[in-house]
Amino acid sequence: MNNLFPENSYYQKCSCGTEFLAPKGSLHCHSCLYKKIAELENDLEIQRMRLAACGVVALANTEKTAKEQRVMHDDYKSASLSDVMSIVDSEMLLRKRITELEDERSDDYSEASTYATSLFNTYYKNKSDAVDFELCTSVAAIITQIDNMATGVIAELEKENKRLRASSNQKHLTESDIDKMRNEAFNN
Ligand SMILES: [Zn+2]
Repeated sequence: MNNLFPENSYYQKCSCGTEFLAPKGSLHCHSCLYKKIAELENDLEIQRMRLAACGVVALANTEKTAKEQRVMHDDYKSASLSDVMSIVDSEMLLRKRITELEDERSDDYSEASTYATSLFNTYYKNKSDAVDFELCTSVAAIITQIDNMATGVIAELEKENKRLRASSNQKHLTESDIDKMRNEAFNN
């Protein structure tokens, strides 16, 4: 049994103290080698699980799934897993911020739309040369619409102001005269 390869085998001493017969240069006895293989297999299994854990945690990117999937045996935790967790945390935070910004933008849009529509209805809708009013699709474009309408309103007011001044030089105006003139200015 000890002499399977007699021509190139030698008696050697393992670090565990056992004397063994093996090709020259062998460092460990069979028993120690089997033990080492078992250790390596165990380590390989742990590394496989660590890798799998990274995959699972990378895909668990909602608050609920992240909480559930991050519960695991300490053996399966690794530095790479921590990196994956912090990236997923950033992703969740950014998604949340995007939702908040979308909500804010939607509020801005609705507020700008209300203001633009009310401006149109008050100062333009009843004009004889009124054109159909259509709201733009972006907040920035609606602000431009508001700006254009406001510019028009200011011009009308300045015109009306001049007319009122000219008229008041000719006669004493009553409240109803002023109302009448204002209505004329906006409805023509
Ligand atoms: Zn040994």
